[in-house]
Amino acid sequence: MTDLDTPVLDNHLHLDPDNARGVEAAKDFARSGGTHLLVVNKPSWHLGVEPEAGDDFRAVFERTIEVVDRASEALDGTAWPVLGVHPGLVSRLVDEREFSPAAARDLMQAGIDVAAEYVADGPAVALKSGRPHYDVDDAVREASNAVMRHAFERGAAVDCAVQLHTEASEDLTEVAEWAADAGLARERVVKHYAAGRLAGPTPSVMSEKDRLEVAAESDAPFLMETDYVDDPDRPGAVMGPRTVPRRVRWLLEEGYDDAVRRAHVETPRRVYDLDTEATLDRA
Ligand SMILES: [Zn+2]
Repeated sequence: MTDLDTPVLDNHLHLDPDNARGVEAAKDFARSGGTHLLVVNKPSWHLGVEPEAGDDFRAVFERTIEVVDRASEALDGTAWPVLGVHPGLVSRLVDEREFSPAAARDLMQAGIDVAAEYVADGPAVALKSGRPHYDVDDAVREASNAVMRHAFERGAAVDCAVQLHTEASEDLTEVAEWAADAGLARERVVKHYAAGRLAGPTPSVMSEKDRLEVAAESDAPFLMETDYVDDPDRPGAVMGPRTVPRRVRWLLEEGYDDAVRRAHVETPRRVYDLDTEATLDRA
């Protein structure tokens, strides 16, 4: 069904575990030439989970793992889970559930600890953390940074990458230094929803042509994503699950063969230790 002769990875999207839509999205991706997915759990409150303790995140993670398993069966390659705590949870806890910033921090760190178990023992390949992309007061920002630094420590301990949701920025050098301080190589920190260039972490570039062109023209490692079905309260249009394979085809037409290999083979290996070639079996 595809003329593409390369693995095609969408580095950050969400699949709805509640009905068939999640697996249908993976099938659309596969039919367009997509082969591999990194599926990030939806925010806990989107799945109706209002956590009181770290263990309450298990329901979110288990349901994500289930839908990822089913998505994997629809691919010639593999779908892997990325598990963690959405940084927007801090505002829900502080503003709506009367948590102090410190108590919110502790709960979110406990959720990260549980996610790290699924990396150490199970199917997850990376952690998800970050800090709000909108303005927050100093205490909430401090709590959020502490959660993110905790995720770097856990990532270093279980030897995995950490995907970040942060404010829009082309320079997160300071954040990458926090990771290095925690023992996690800065290239294993991935900023999702990234522009085409980024100082510090590895950018997971939103698959718009202008952003991809900047990334392709550089020599720097990068990944490609759609952020399909993210928070409805996030600004910006939703990219469909066919977008990454379509953009890969476009990059190849434009002569960016090296960049396609960088984003879909070399960078996944460097960042996640994932081999998108060995795990691809085209029928
Ligand atoms: Zn997302």
